[in-house]
Amino acid sequence: MLTTIEKIIFIVLAITAAGFTFHGFKTIIDSIRKGRPAPELKNIPASLLNAGVKVLFQQTIFKARKVLSAIHMGLFFGLITYAIVNLMDVLEGLVPGFDLVYGGKHIPNAPTGLVNAFNLIADVMSMFLLIAITVFLVRRFIVKDKALTYRDNVLLNPKVKAGGQARDSLTVGVFVIMHVVAHVLSQAYRLTEGADPFMPFASFLNSIFGVSETGVHVAWWVSIGWVMFIVPYLSRSKHTHFFMSPINLGLAKQNPRGQLDTPAKVDPGAKFLHDLSWKRVLDSYACVQCNRCQDVCPANFYGRPLSPSALEVNKRYLLKEATFGSHPDRLLVPLTESVISPEAVWSCTTCYACVRVCPVGNEPMADIVDIRRRMLIDGYEIDSGVQNALQSLATNGNWMSKGKRLRGRWAKEMEFPVKNATEEPVEHLWFVGDTASFDERVIPNTKMVARLFNQGGLDFGIMYQNESNSGNDVRRVGEEGLFEQLVEQNMAAFGKAQFKQIVTTDPHSFNTLKNEYPQFGGTFEVKHYTVTLLKLIEEGKLTIKNKLSNYKVTFHDPCYLGRYNGGFTAPRKLLELLGVEFHEMPRNCENSFCCGAGGGQIWMGKVAPGERPAENRIKEALTTFGEGSNAKTQLFIVTCPKDMIMYSDAVKTTGNEGKIEVRDIIQLVAEAVGIEEPIHAPVAA
Ligand code: SF4
Ligand code: SF4
Repeated sequence: MLTTIEKIIFIVLAITAAGFTFHGFKTIIDSIRKGRPAPELKNIPASLLNAGVKVLFQQTIFKARKVLSAIHMGLFFGLITYAIVNLMDVLEGLVPGFDLVYGGKHIPNAPTGLVNAFNLIADVMSMFLLIAITVFLVRRFIVKDKALTYRDNVLLNPKVKAGGQARDSLTVGVFVIMHVVAHVLSQAYRLTEGADPFMPFASFLNSIFGVSETGVHVAWWVSIGWVMFIVPYLSRSKHTHFFMSPINLGLAKQNPRGQLDTPAKVDPGAKFLHDLSWKRVLDSYACVQCNRCQDVCPANFYGRPLSPSALEVNKRYLLKEATFGSHPDRLLVPLTESVISPEAVWSCTTCYACVRVCPVGNEPMADIVDIRRRMLIDGYEIDSGVQNALQSLATNGNWMSKGKRLRGRWAKEMEFPVKNATEEPVEHLWFVGDTASFDERVIPNTKMVARLFNQGGLDFGIMYQNESNSGNDVRRVGEEGLFEQLVEQNMAAFGKAQFKQIVTTDPHSFNTLKNEYPQFGGTFEVKHYTVTLLKLIEEGKLTIKNKLSNYKVTFHDPCYLGRYNGGFTAPRKLLELLGVEFHEMPRNCENSFCCGAGGGQIWMGKVAPGERPAENRIKEALTTFGEGSNAKTQLFIVTCPKDMIMYSDAVKTTGNEGKIEVRDIIQLVAEAVGIEEPIHAPVAA
């Protein structure tokens, strides 16, 4: 179809485009390689293959925004189809007589059925692509969907503020429209024998524009010329994710969700961009800039200046300015001035929602912890509440400024002896945690756990003053040294004890004991108390005497039990056995909304204005019960001592006392089993 001179021009342009594309991707790979080592990945080919399947079926995007995800899926398949369409277009241009219209009847021995099928798919996909891209352009430029914007207080790269992302989207949107229309027109102009039933869209355009040899050439050049411009452009735009996101997904974290990377020995943490691991440099190139992570971020909801997506977008722009632009010095600007503000760094609750929802396997939260690590080393003045907690943890082994010997005081108040696991062998070593050990609001529940364990014949003991804070939140605050000190103290205590299994009441302790102590040689079987209680009931060691059908309950999945460790079943199974009327909250299980306490937030001295995540959650809980009869008591059930505090406060501050009551699941189990009152034995001397 093309003339000789056109063929020469095409080949020159194609080689030039390939050169720019190669340069673009080489620049990206070089910048990724400058990142620090990441945890070792196992079986990379299988992992990449698995990611390829996920991407092919678009599995990861359906975690949120279902309708838009379905349209995106169509767009994705449309673009895949167009990769083949473009190849055929090039062949039609370069190979004389190679023409697919009318089933390729002018090609000798052409498989007509196959060609017709291809033509039909390509034609229908062309229409779908135009519809899908129009939806996305309307969403961004006409409806101006707020989900694609950032709060005013979020640190943004000046180019993003000036509309860089929108320009990228517009460029690619216009490309898709021009490219598709030009391709279909180039087919339409060739329909010399009237409509082709397998090319309805092209036939429709043919009925309007007719046949034209010049039209075929012009349309072909517009369609394929755009491709030669857009492919090199993609490596320099946010649409790098077309290529980088499947790779990123294939190289995503393989360690347990609840295990943070061990910091580097020299200059730990991250001050500059290339202090991050290479994998997290790659994250920024893979980022779709969809803001799904921002949607689920409790800190962002709370009005704090944190947006995990802005963090990735800023990283990307910083890299672009330094590698493709003329500002290599931009990489010498600290991350806290170029990608995330210090206030945002300290707003993160480490809830993992951003990482879980990200369709391309990004870990903005891990960046934040690394930045915290370096900020502490560099002497950043942290919130006084956090400072006090860390000081107390260093001296007392707990964050509540309590003497070590007071840790087991509640146990001495019980009417039966609670074994000291560091002095006599036990089957179950109960790691109680700070809040459950010291907080007067929670201790009645701690005692109920002990009583139920005792009644169920569980051979258990605690470590009394030998237990220290597990260090989960200390590590997430960025105090790796103190975390290691706490691990060492607990490991020494475990060394004195003989036990088969650890049981915890606190999901935060559960997480680090299960997932991070193995990094320090401590591999234990660790269970949350909901699992232990369920087992006692299922084995008939605890008997449910009273069905609690007078309660309407909803349940909050704590981040460190649920999203981090998949502990969704045991609490729900327990509630089912107790006979309560159960109502699932809209945001549940993996999609649960953080109470706002994690990552050291519970220690913060200053409380920011605005609706706190826990307050929002209480309102959400009330919506689950509906309007019906209020004859039943409405309960908000928790399985984390910190949640007991957070949500009890939130019920008061939202003015919902009397409408909903916060209870630990243990209170319901105790009531069902027939233990109604907490133990009030005299305090031991
Ligand atoms: S871990 Fe949670 S609080 Fe932190 S950035 Fe991600 S979503 Fe936001
Ligand atoms: S980090 Fe993931 S979820 Fe967030 S904007 Fe980027 S691709 Fe979307």
